[in-house]
Amino acid sequence: MPSFVIPEKCDGCKGGEKTACMYVCPNDLMVLNTDEMKAYNQEPDACWECFSCVKICPQGAIEVRSYSDIVPLGGSVVPMRASDSIMWTIKFRNGNLKRFKFPIRTTPEGSIKPFEGKPEPAAADLDNELLFTEIGKTLPTP
Ligand code: SF4
Ligand code: SF4
Repeated sequence: MPSFVIPEKCDGCKGGEKTACMYVCPNDLMVLNTDEMKAYNQEPDACWECFSCVKICPQGAIEVRSYSDIVPLGGSVVPMRASDSIMWTIKFRNGNLKRFKFPIRTTPEGSIKPFEGKPEPAAADLDNELLFTEIGKTLPTP
């Protein structure tokens, strides 16, 4: 089930060139109706419910209708980002609320060096059955 915009909450990101939801959607699904200054999901069938637009929207104007076997009608799953954490609010169909708070990455975007300290690859490694993280290590004998 796709994301959807609550028009009363959306302010079109105040008329910026590219709205936050357009910027973040990995599938380029979000578009802005420039007459109404409201965003919408132009191809709901192609939405994979990654929640990225929900998390980035500064107005909290986007929700995802989750599948009914996970979130039955009447329930909702709403994330709210802070600078160092994300809070998930789970509303059950009987009205019960639960909140879960998790820390998030605090390193600047693009600053992570995933291969730092790892050996440079060599052509001969193509025939090596070890994973690249195992090369050079003594593995325990089974
Ligand atoms: S990010 Fe939110 S406020 Fe901005 S255009 Fe998209 S739905 Fe509207
Ligand atoms: S949930 Fe993900 S795929 Fe769907 S519109 Fe939002 S950002 Fe795009």
